[in-house]
Amino acid sequence: MEFCDECGSMMKADNGIWECGSCGFTKPKGDADQYTLTEDQEASEIIESSEETSLPETDAICPECGNDRAYWYMQQIRSADESETRFFICTECEHKWREDDN
Ligand SMILES: [Zn+2]
Ligand SMILES: [Zn+2]
Repeated sequence: MEFCDECGSMMKADNGIWECGSCGFTKPKGDADQYTLTEDQEASEIIESSEETSLPETDAICPECGNDRAYWYMQQIRSADESETRFFICTECEHKWREDDN
């Protein structure tokens, strides 16, 4: 179970990310710890959905493991007058970072 960082609504898992049903906020499902599930059925569902990620890939160096491929997505952080920020998610270790976090 995960709750939206923006509005506190319950989020649903979708293609390896959490998506808020209320405001559309998304974040990666992240830590491998969350994959430790008690029911085999749930585990197999997650494996299937993680293979079918809808996020595009690009060349980006992961600051955690040095991998040069990452998924990316755009997200608006604050108000509508601010430009969207690009987030990367490492294809290897699933580390997430912002494009402008240099
Ligand atoms: Zn929300
Ligand atoms: Zn990485």
